[in-house]
Amino acid sequence: MHKIGKVVVDLSKEGQTELVLPGGRGGKGNSHFATSTRQAPRFARDGEKGIEKEFILELKLLADVGLLGFPNVGKSTFISKVTSAKPKIADYHFTTLVPNLGVVKGEYGDSFVIADIPGIIEGASEGTGLGIQFLRHIERTRLLLHFLDISGTEGRNPVEDFEIINTELKKYSEKLADRKQIIVANKADAAQEELYQAVAKMAKEKGMELFKISAVTGEGINELMQRVSALLKELPKEELIEASEERVVYTLEDEEEFEIEKIGEDYVVSGPAVERLMGRVNIQDNESMYYFQKQLTELGIEAKLKQMGIKEGDTVKILDWEFEWYN
Ligand code: GDP
Ligand code: MG
Repeated sequence: MHKIGKVVVDLSKEGQTELVLPGGRGGKGNSHFATSTRQAPRFARDGEKGIEKEFILELKLLADVGLLGFPNVGKSTFISKVTSAKPKIADYHFTTLVPNLGVVKGEYGDSFVIADIPGIIEGASEGTGLGIQFLRHIERTRLLLHFLDISGTEGRNPVEDFEIINTELKKYSEKLADRKQIIVANKADAAQEELYQAVAKMAKEKGMELFKISAVTGEGINELMQRVSALLKELPKEELIEASEERVVYTLEDEEEFEIEKIGEDYVVSGPAVERLMGRVNIQDNESMYYFQKQLTELGIEAKLKQMGIKEGDTVKILDWEFEWYN
């Protein structure tokens, strides 16, 4: 059957509706079965049961820009500066337990949405600690601002941090690792020059854009936001939409299987095909039973039973019913 982990449908547009499971075929009344020879049919068919499946609904934020970075590098401070979002800011780790969305108003061009994602820590892609549940929120962003702390106050090495986070991203999703990133060297007001120089060297080697800012004093924020706004106009929107070939639509035909087990002397038939069949036959009714027997042949159940060596007088169990086999 279908594996867990497949994308069934991607609801990314406002108002989008999709059918993921068809209902059962409707029932048919007596008149439907009227033929020239069966003028007053006693035979009606109940509607079928639909298919039952469990789906996991995954909520992904639809933000244009995602903020990447270790805890305490200043992401929440930044988002509170450039948007009207009011995230918690504190200098202990993992203060941001839910992603914060902030809307940047037209000031820098068109308005756009920034998501402040709680700190990714090492091992996040394996699901240890905080992070993995948040990584998926940045899948939809078009641009990542990779925050590094150049103040050294946390004892962090920004160049190492950069590598650690990108390694995590890559483990989680190649696609995400390829997303356009801008390096943001934050805490310029308290910068340690050699840390900044190391970051600048790395950015140059990697051919990446670098902005030096202070989320607290606002230094460098205008330049960064103007660049972000300009980039968002260039970056393709299509990147957001997941491969639609992954789309699975379940059909009734997916569920036609049956299984026959020989348990002791009895033949036990189970599976969705017989569940649906039994749901629409009326055991008390001759014509319905005739239809039932025809279906056993059509579904290949009779052939399978014969192949398994069923003999006259053997018992066939289908759900709660027992039948005696006769040729
Ligand atoms: P987050 O975990 O990345 O969201 O970081 P926060 O925004 O919560 O900031 C963590 C700490 O760094 C807080 O004490 C902030 O006041 C401080 N901080 C953030 N940005 C700056 C900055 O530009 N300069 C200085 N000196 N401190 C900053
Ligand atoms: Mg935060």
